[in-house]
Amino acid sequence: MKKRERYIYIFIVILPAIIAIFGFYQILSERAKEERVKKLEWVANMHRNQMDQFINETVVSLDILAVSTESELNNLTKVRTILQKMASKDPRYGGIYMLDFEGNLLVGTNDLLKQYNLRDKPYIKEVLLTKNTAVSEEAETLVNNQPVIAIATPVMKNQQVKAILVSHIRLDYMKNIMRLLTPEHSIAFENAKQIPIFSINQTKELSEDGNYLRYPLAQLPWSLVIASEPSEEENVVPITLLFAVIVIILLHICFLLVKYLMLKRQTKLERMQQEAQKLELIGTLAASTAHEIRNPLTGIKGLVQLLNEKYNDSTDELYFSVINKEIARINQIVSEFLILGKPTAQKVQTVDIREIIVDLNPLIYSEANQYSVHYQVVLPEQETWVNVNFDQMKQVILNLTKNAFEAMNEGGDLRLTVIKEGNSCHLSITDTGPGIEKEHLHQLFKPFFTSKDNGTGLGLVVCKRIVESFGGTIEIISEFGFGTTVSVTLPLQNR
Ligand code: ADP
Ligand code: MG
Repeated sequence: MKKRERYIYIFIVILPAIIAIFGFYQILSERAKEERVKKLEWVANMHRNQMDQFINETVVSLDILAVSTESELNNLTKVRTILQKMASKDPRYGGIYMLDFEGNLLVGTNDLLKQYNLRDKPYIKEVLLTKNTAVSEEAETLVNNQPVIAIATPVMKNQQVKAILVSHIRLDYMKNIMRLLTPEHSIAFENAKQIPIFSINQTKELSEDGNYLRYPLAQLPWSLVIASEPSEEENVVPITLLFAVIVIILLHICFLLVKYLMLKRQTKLERMQQEAQKLELIGTLAASTAHEIRNPLTGIKGLVQLLNEKYNDSTDELYFSVINKEIARINQIVSEFLILGKPTAQKVQTVDIREIIVDLNPLIYSEANQYSVHYQVVLPEQETWVNVNFDQMKQVILNLTKNAFEAMNEGGDLRLTVIKEGNSCHLSITDTGPGIEKEHLHQLFKPFFTSKDNGTGLGLVVCKRIVESFGGTIEIISEFGFGTTVSVTLPLQNR
């Protein structure tokens, strides 16, 4: 690969591919993350609501229990019956206990708290202080190894705490409910100090990284913590890979296209260079030889004329006419060579192009007569100034009309029009001849391309060279069978 090609490869394939693939991956994973968070929010909300409701329910039923036991505090057996009834009805309770206002156990649904002194538990203190329901800050493990959360409710009489109702909520029961709701999510509850209280489906330590979302509960100073790990359904990587393959293929197609266009331009450039070289060669050749040929040719012509006066029977006449015709032909080629050989920087002046045409008109009319062609000129009414060399411009128009006449052997119409358009002057010469075959169109301005037996193939080359030296362009529009229009465009001048 050439150095330039390598750069193009980098700019057309490698850089765009990297940018596109990276961008695509970013967008895709960003979207997957958003989706994941949305889903997690939904899950968290559900659990939060369910936990809030659960605690709420429990608190309400404990409140009711507190009210209904308040009058029975003197009859502990009755209290125990009521507590037991409650505990057996609802599986969430690990046990319900009645403490006195100092936190000493009075009675309970089981003996698990026998050796336990609850007085110093923060939630008991909180109940005594606030006279409101309080929940334990962390899970407790009872002597039977059952983890529970304690909820304490004051039993009030005359605004005084008479006793404290403590219920133990079984964590395994709560966990089971949560597992039933969302078996595949890893969820934990933390207290206000971010110490985990309990969790389900926990695979990693909570503190390990920041891939957790926290949602505070409404009923408790707890937070729900949910892990946000990428799930299997987010096939960001395979989709990105597929995208990468497609992008790389497309970019390679682009690269090949660019390479093809570059090659095409290169060959076109080379061809144009060749063409220019050829012209230059002809120019040099013409400049060096045309005069050398013309001088002896003039001599030959004169001598042939003299000979012709001497030998003038009919066969001789025939020979001499052929010789004269051939000499004229050589002369023509040599004059065209001379034009080609002349430096293109000729003396230009600002002239009214209509003047040139008016000057040429008699010549064109007489030739039109000869070819039985109907000639028509359309010129603008205002002056039309262009920067040209008067004689060279004449040469151009004559070359073009000559081609037109030669194309219309059986007569026809020749139209010469000049129009002004914007900053340009368009001179067009239209004939009703046979037109030009499509495959010849691109060869017209090549030196020596001719379809005529005695053509030189230099007329259009000369025209193009002259017109371009005036900063103009020449164009041939032709449809085979419908005639030809040669259009010369020159920049208009102000005067
Ligand atoms: P030459 O006239 O000596 O053949 P030119 O350069 O003037 O050389 O023209 C080249 C060729 O272009 C002609 O041989 C002819 O085939 C074609 N051509 C030019 N003008 C016309 C036209 N008006 N109608 C048809 N063919 C044309
Ligand atoms: Mg010609």
